[in-house]
This record gives sequence, structure tokens and C-alpha cells, in this order.
Amino acid sequence: MIRERLGVNSMASANFFDGLIGNISPVVALYKDIVGSGVRVECFPGGRSPYTGNGGTFATADWHSNEGVWKIYFPAGAHAHQVYHELLHIRFKNVEGAPVMAASIHEAQLRRNVEELNNDFDHAYVVPLEIATYSEAAVYWEADFTRVLEGLPPPSSEQVNVAQRKITLLRGWLILPNSMPTATVTHLFRRELASGGWLDAANELIHRVRVAGANKALAVQAFREALGFDFPPAAKVTFLI
Ligand SMILES: [Zn+2]
Repeated sequence: MIRERLGVNSMASANFFDGLIGNISPVVALYKDIVGSGVRVECFPGGRSPYTGNGGTFATADWHSNEGVWKIYFPAGAHAHQVYHELLHIRFKNVEGAPVMAASIHEAQLRRNVEELNNDFDHAYVVPLEIATYSEAAVYWEADFTRVLEGLPPPSSEQVNVAQRKITLLRGWLILPNSMPTATVTHLFRRELASGGWLDAANELIHRVRVAGANKALAVQAFREALGFDFPPAAKVTFLI
């Protein structure tokens, strides 16, 4: 059915996705949209990333700057929403034009933190669209954020503890209310934010992030203001196109 609708020229692209579990039509359509806008994407069902080794359990996407191509690796029987998720990352960066936030390689710890935070800002865009198309993806994200909440240290008046709790809760809030507004984990995050006195700032943050769209520098500045301190440090991060 899908091949008939897409026509002969798109048969090759549809074939990559034939073994996926679930509805592959949104995957094929998004892939065609991205490739049609001039972005190069190669798919490797059953392959693993030579960079990270990932792709054996979950889908993963690497940008190969030397070749100017994205490569997506995924298990042959992966869920369609995993591949859709990777394609949304690619669309946000290469079609919408969202830069990558990065820190100097000389600051290893900060660099890792900034990489994770950059991924959260991408997920503020990716995850709501992923779940809107594949409701089954919510199960994965609910479990993921439940683990985040369980790893949160209990509240104390120590400055480091307060900062850590606030960063973790705001990072989750970038994604939860827009993708799973009624989920239990979203209610739990809301309750923790409220008990810290941060819920209004958190809601203002997600409004500003939505307005910022692909302007990640603007979105990150809204995050700093919601936090009330300079993280990630403005002088130490850059935004790479
Ligand atoms: Zn992702």
C-alpha cells in the first residue's frame, strides 16, 4: 500500500524501514521530507555506529561531517518511533537550522553536561512530535523520567543540592508538559517544582523555549533566567551550525 502511494522512485527509501515494528508511514514520509530538502541521510538497518557502537538495541544517528551525511543505525526489528525520533533530531538541526550547543574540549566535565543539556533542548522539540505521532513512545519516556525523578537527591538547604534539584527538574520540564501533560511523572515533576517555589519560572521557561523555536541561544538564555544563575556559563558555550 505504502509503496503504491509513494510511487516507484521512493521504493528504495521505503525498503530500509520495512522491518520496523509499528506504522512505518510517518517514518517514510519524514525521511522523504528531509531528503527532499537536500539533507543527506543514509540508513543502516542491523548496523552499529562506528563512533559510539550504538544501534544494536536502540536507533542512533551520527553526523559524519567529513562526508556531509547523517547515518542512522537501528536494529532490524526496532520500533518505528525510534527511527522517527532520530529523523526529528535531523530535521531540527538541518532543516529548521537549530545549532548545537557545545563547550571547549579542554573542559571535559562541562562539555559532557553541555552535551546532555543540548540534547534536552533538542528533545523539547523532538519528543512532543514523536509522542503525538506514536503514542506508544510515551511508555519509554515516562519510564525514563521516572528514573530521573528517583535519582533526584532529597531536598536540603545546601546550595549545591538546591541547584542540582532545580536544574534536573527544569530539564525535565522542557519536555514533559508538552509531550505527556497528563502522565503521572509529569504530575510528580510539577509537584516537586511547586514545592521548590519554581513552577511559575518553569512554565515561563517552556513558553519562551517554544517561542524561541530553532534559536537555541535564546532558549538557553531563558533556561539561565529560569534557573537564576549562569548555567551553562554563557562565556564558555558556543553554538555551532
Ligand atoms: Zn534523542
